[in-house]
Amino acid sequence: MGVPMKQMAKVGAYIFKQKFKGNRRFPLVMMLEPLFRCNLACAGCGKIQHPEAILKKNLDPEDCFRAAEECGAPIVSIAGGEPLIHPEIDQIANGLVFRKKFVYLCTNAILLERNLHRFTPSTYLTFSVHMDGLEKRHDELVCKEGVFKKAVSGIKLAKKKGFRVTTNTTVFDGENPEELADLFDFLTDLGVDGMMVSPGYSYEKAPDQAHFLKREKTHNLFKEIMAIGKKRNRKWPFNHSPFFLDFLQGKTDYECTPWGNPNYSVLGWQKPCYLLGDGYVPTFGQLMEETVWENYGRASGNPKCQDCMVHCGYEPSAVQDSTRNLSNTIRSIRSALA
Ligand code: SF4
Ligand code: SF4
Repeated sequence: MGVPMKQMAKVGAYIFKQKFKGNRRFPLVMMLEPLFRCNLACAGCGKIQHPEAILKKNLDPEDCFRAAEECGAPIVSIAGGEPLIHPEIDQIANGLVFRKKFVYLCTNAILLERNLHRFTPSTYLTFSVHMDGLEKRHDELVCKEGVFKKAVSGIKLAKKKGFRVTTNTTVFDGENPEELADLFDFLTDLGVDGMMVSPGYSYEKAPDQAHFLKREKTHNLFKEIMAIGKKRNRKWPFNHSPFFLDFLQGKTDYECTPWGNPNYSVLGWQKPCYLLGDGYVPTFGQLMEETVWENYGRASGNPKCQDCMVHCGYEPSAVQDSTRNLSNTIRSIRSALA
């Protein structure tokens, strides 16, 4: 099961509560970037390009808790940078779990084995390991040999110690659908609890601009991958709403919900989403009130949004669709139980 039932139930109840209160815009997943430093230098990364003075900064745990409480989203995804090089990452993750947030700690897993003793297994804590391909392709994409082996060994040890482990895969243009299907088979057989997948976004700051997917290519690639899974009779445990998977294949269309995944980092709350840097504000309240949301998403005509299909903008749209009527809710529950 990609999404734990407890998480589904709590997130479902949270959405109904927001709708009942008449809130038109509310967050689902808070993206927390407590640092931008990383122990890798992937070609598609838009985070490690920040100036040295910013790369040296760390958010302290109290800052993270204050932001999570102000935001109120039931899920917190801790990214970066590489969160495991933050000296207080255990206090941050454990403190958020204590506050009953579903924490996804995103990591390239190079430091996972040696840091596991700092965490306690819980339904509320998931390590989300960056996995962009099988050994050769993954190591090429992260620009370093040996990272795939290290990640697999980290996943195995974390599972053995009772942790929840999911993976996240960014898909770039030119990827081979058979190879991506092989990766999903491999990760399923490894026993991961869920897999996240998203097309890459062409960050202006990323050095490799040639390999980001455009909409039609995204639809075709994901259709091919899903068709291969069906032919192989595999049930991959995607950690996504079935409606987001439909969206990736072009079977349905959504408008972006950028306030669904608000981003808080060493620079403050980022307007409007973690992909675009149209300014930072110190409070979540200001982010919601001062951002001109109508300037973002496809319908706005904003050129930076036209080809974006990234999960941070569209998974919240898909999750909200899954609570739109009874038949959609039943489909979501069925897919979680499959
Ligand atoms: S592991 Fe993540 S944060 Fe680090 S360089 Fe690669 S994409 Fe960037
Ligand atoms: S479409 Fe993409 S880039 Fe534009 S606001 Fe939404 S998530 Fe951000």
